[in-house]
Amino acid sequence: MMKKPFVTLEKVQEIVKTYPTPFHIYDEEGFSQNAKAVYDAFSWNKGFKEYFAVKATPNPRLMEILKSFGCGFDCSSMTELMLSNAIGASGEDIMFSSNDTPPEEFVYADKLGAIINLDDFTHIDFLEKTIGKIPETISCRYNPGGVFTMANQIMDNPGDSKYGMTKEQLFDAFKILKEKGAKRFGIHAFLASNTVTNDYYPELAGQLFELAVELQNKTGAKVAFINLSGGVGVAYRPDQESNDIAAIGRGVHEQYDKILVPAGMGDVAIFTEMGRYMMAPYGGLVTKAIHEKHIYKEYIGVDACAVNLMRPAMYGAYHHITVLGKEDAPLDHVYDVTGSLCENNDKFAIERQLPKIDKGDYLFIHDTGAHGYSMGYNYNGKLKSAELLLRKDGSVELIRRAETPRDYFATFDGLKVYDKLKEIMDSEGV
Ligand SMILES: *Cc1c(COP(=O)(O)O)cnc(C)c1O
Repeated sequence: MMKKPFVTLEKVQEIVKTYPTPFHIYDEEGFSQNAKAVYDAFSWNKGFKEYFAVKATPNPRLMEILKSFGCGFDCSSMTELMLSNAIGASGEDIMFSSNDTPPEEFVYADKLGAIINLDDFTHIDFLEKTIGKIPETISCRYNPGGVFTMANQIMDNPGDSKYGMTKEQLFDAFKILKEKGAKRFGIHAFLASNTVTNDYYPELAGQLFELAVELQNKTGAKVAFINLSGGVGVAYRPDQESNDIAAIGRGVHEQYDKILVPAGMGDVAIFTEMGRYMMAPYGGLVTKAIHEKHIYKEYIGVDACAVNLMRPAMYGAYHHITVLGKEDAPLDHVYDVTGSLCENNDKFAIERQLPKIDKGDYLFIHDTGAHGYSMGYNYNGKLKSAELLLRKDGSVELIRRAETPRDYFATFDGLKVYDKLKEIMDSEGV
């Protein structure tokens, strides 16, 4: 399948007059339609809620729009909780699915009335000591161990992952939490990441539904919701077929009718915590080719680097690239497309077939709407880019400005050297 950017060269040429490259841009029309499709796919379940995984794209403007479609927020840190609070989410619109949790984050999550999803058995005690009680609504994260397979294919390796409780611990946890006053229970599991198949959620749902029936029968704890968490993937490569959320919703529905309804649990709410599926395809990183280099290989140097998008450097992840204005040109050149970090893994593409790239060309790096900007860092003292929102009416809104040296040096404030840094920044006009 051809991957088509949601902006044209003409649009980018207009945008860069106000906002220079590099920048991430998000397509409001695209992610709004998608959010609606997610809610349609699960409309058969009365209590359904998607808790958008804030870590994927922690921008309050985008969160606000997702909230307008009914989304809540899945948080795993203090600042993610603060962002959710700032845009008006509260109470059970917030899921706090964290691990290795510092006490002050439990305190704040409780203050907001968030649903707390316990990652570990020992957190029962820790939570009770920290906030002085066990909340009436509580969730536990499950890790079945072993390898997670589907159709004889290994999808992921839960036995090797740090998250969740064993099955035995989960049963004990429900009993203890019930004794301590919990009344509404949830189960959560995240068993495979970026699954590009319509079968992952139904398979996971089947396992969790059976577990829920067993838990309710054996512990008497009332299971109120089952959280399928994240892991629904996107087609980063042009030869992959995108997931069909309607088919995924139907697959979960079948399991629900087969397992929960006959057990008298037809009132259980289904929750999801998708990040990638909600946003990845609806964001792009726009960057300009500023250098070309011919040594043992052909290199194109762009003005973005791994600081703006870390996935290729971090996991060797594929991100498709379109050279804007050359959509129909033959892919008759082979390039490494690089950023400027002093790390040889700072490459957006390795030996990629692309059209001939000239200096000044704009490259659209696809599918950066989740785990893109947010994973960025400041290595080499490089600054993070702006984030822009392409509105439905075609206008462009700045939803986060680019970092400046002032932001980068702000944490030296209070030290003697800061006065000198300020003097330098003032004289450089930055
Ligand atoms: C990262 C994460 C998600 C989101 O995962 P995606 O693959 O982006 O859908 C959801 N829940 C938890 C607990 C996570 O850590």
